[in-house]
Amino acid sequence: MKETEKQNILRNIPAVDKILQWPELQKFLEQLEQHYVTAIIRYKIDEFRKRILTGEDYDLDFLKNSILCEFKDLVRPYFRRAVNALGIVLHTGLGRAPFSHGIANNLRDASVGYSQLQIDEEGKRADRYRKISQILSLITGAEAGIIVNNNAGATLLILNALAKGKEVIVSRGQLIEIGGAFRIPEIMEQSGATLHEVGATNRTHLENYEEAINENTGALLRVHQSNYRIIGFTKEVSLNELIELGKKHNLPVIDDLGSGALIDLSKYNLPKEPTVQDSVKAGADIICFSGDKLIGGPQCGIIIGKEKIINNIKKNPLTRALRCDKMTNEALEATLQLFLHKEKTLLKNHGVMSILLRPIKDIKRQASLCARKLKKQFSKQLEISLQKDLSEIGGGSLSTEQLPTFVVAVKPKIMAAQDLARALRTCDIPIYGRVSEGVILLDFRTVLRKEEQYIINAFNDVFKTI
Ligand SMILES: *Cc1c(COP(=O)(O)O)cnc(C)c1O
Repeated sequence: MKETEKQNILRNIPAVDKILQWPELQKFLEQLEQHYVTAIIRYKIDEFRKRILTGEDYDLDFLKNSILCEFKDLVRPYFRRAVNALGIVLHTGLGRAPFSHGIANNLRDASVGYSQLQIDEEGKRADRYRKISQILSLITGAEAGIIVNNNAGATLLILNALAKGKEVIVSRGQLIEIGGAFRIPEIMEQSGATLHEVGATNRTHLENYEEAINENTGALLRVHQSNYRIIGFTKEVSLNELIELGKKHNLPVIDDLGSGALIDLSKYNLPKEPTVQDSVKAGADIICFSGDKLIGGPQCGIIIGKEKIINNIKKNPLTRALRCDKMTNEALEATLQLFLHKEKTLLKNHGVMSILLRPIKDIKRQASLCARKLKKQFSKQLEISLQKDLSEIGGGSLSTEQLPTFVVAVKPKIMAAQDLARALRTCDIPIYGRVSEGVILLDFRTVLRKEEQYIINAFNDVFKTI
């Protein structure tokens, strides 16, 4: 932009009191305290001025639009429902597990009132973990259980409670990184335990553990390789062997299972994931896994195992720092109760399970319905086709595996796919799809019942405004 043009735009930025008179702003002025309204206008003007000064090419309409958008975003929840058309079943960016309607109704009811979070029938302060512990024991066979903020917290807490100032032996093939800076070596360091790595990346033998045990060893740790696989010339020591070794040397065995399958998925032609029950049966002293991966509940870290160790963990100050609120307890209890039901009912009502086991013809039916509607309304703007593709499980669960799916491929004729995809993500119900080589792919494995209508509405919104 030329210098004179720049100066011209800067000179013509309207004054704050002029902007306050815009008819489009009046509804926000009626709702919001005026000093917040002025602060936002000032901030947006400042931001605009900086952009112009750095040479970006914008006009005053852009400023107006960006102020109005800011107000719209301010009064509508950012944490709102979104449509996952990415085909990644457990997507951390999209909040991982979708709850069933039953759980959502419980939550709504309990959240507007008080909750029996930590009180007993006598009206006395009670153990906040007793109900969850009871139901976890019933499902998994473990002696006791407790929950904390997430599985990263669970790992940190267990290592701190069992092995602070001591060494913890881990196979080199299990020093994993999960997204968001969860790395076993770093969690270990934060916990106050010392990592003692054994074996090689691809092969670790029982002797490697045995030779590493010394008077300062505090525990043996097994970590599930959640999000990667080592293939070829490989060996890991089985949990059974590790437990045997732990017993011999009187050392606790910790099992970080990651996703924590409560039912054997291989029965349903899904890849085998180690189950929590197998780990308990094998005799692991302490086991942890996420509440919002395959369990399909709220974000939390579930710890189960020997009662003596759980009681010891309860006394640890980190437990208080990592404790969960009433919403998490309510949602997890309802999720775990689903697992007590007949398996047929569970599979139908459980958010994550029903997506994993969704019949391909059901996915195809919904995708074709959406494709037909899009073709009918937007054939001028879009080229639409139905294609076979593959979905991912994600969330560090069975994540090397893919599931068959159908996608609606949307190729815009009048704008770039990236821009259309972005516009779809800013709708009242945002739509998240994959963009690949100028085409938006809407994967219907993860599009929930009736959500195809939200997709149609979003396209309507986008094409209405351009
Ligand atoms: C996912 C995962 C974690 C972290 O769990 P969050 O619930 O995301 O904190 C830790 N360990 C393993 C093996 C995992 O798969």
